[in-house]
Amino acid sequence: MPNDLKPYLGLQASLLTQHGKESVICPLLLSTNGLEVSHVNGYDTDKLGSFTRDIPRYGSQLDAARKKARIGMELAGTQIGIASEGAFANDPFAGIIPWNYELVILVDDIHEIEITGFYGGEAQSANMLVSSWDELTAFLPEARFPSHHLVIKPDDEYHLECRKGIDTIRSLRQAYDWARNLSKKGNVFVENDLRAHINPTRMENILKATQDLAKKMTSLCPGCKSPGYSITETKKGLPCSHCGVPTNLPIANIWSCVKCGDKKEELIANQVTADPAKCHYCNP
Ligand SMILES: [Zn+2]
Ligand SMILES: [Zn+2]
Repeated sequence: MPNDLKPYLGLQASLLTQHGKESVICPLLLSTNGLEVSHVNGYDTDKLGSFTRDIPRYGSQLDAARKKARIGMELAGTQIGIASEGAFANDPFAGIIPWNYELVILVDDIHEIEITGFYGGEAQSANMLVSSWDELTAFLPEARFPSHHLVIKPDDEYHLECRKGIDTIRSLRQAYDWARNLSKKGNVFVENDLRAHINPTRMENILKATQDLAKKMTSLCPGCKSPGYSITETKKGLPCSHCGVPTNLPIANIWSCVKCGDKKEELIANQVTADPAKCHYCNP
């Protein structure tokens, strides 16, 4: 039965997913939280959006994950549902490296809460427009082929037809010839297939987002005892060691409860003042 330390021990949940994500999510939530997650696959989640641009995503990343969790709960008749959703962008630092944001949600009608785990890390999402077979084969190391599979389209990334899940040189050659024949100018667009089961980099990021979720599921609010108590913001303002003016460096973490909304500030340990090099006043 659920208890204070492991609120999910022995509870049942459904996970609506395709593309093999159950292989990382189910065992992890069982071993860390004792939550028994059963895989539901009676619904084509690609209908809620695909990475090959043929189907636009349903709402935001969070909306799409929540929708999948709800569908899974309905299909399996559980009060708890898990789902995941990925997104691709450029890195949040310099904006040049391909980046992958993974979100794993737990929708919980027993405690009447939602908890989300996140992870952002480097993506394996290379792409290129090529006009010859040699150009295509030169691109393969960058795409980390064949451990990461490929998608091929005629003309450009917006073409409505594509070949997905390409994993051998032979099938790559066939797809290339097919696309080149259909292409108006002889161009072929090639990119990494971003579906999790054939993109190990993405699967690793999903695992890390699930670890984040698992940790939040065991973290209880000091006030109402609900699971899902976690750091949601950081507060800036660490004072400069030279002049004492607040800098943009973080000084405290803000913990929030998903159930009662309780918030608490916790000073970040092991730092008292900021390097004057980071101070707008001393080093403008
Ligand atoms: Zn200063
Ligand atoms: Zn609370």
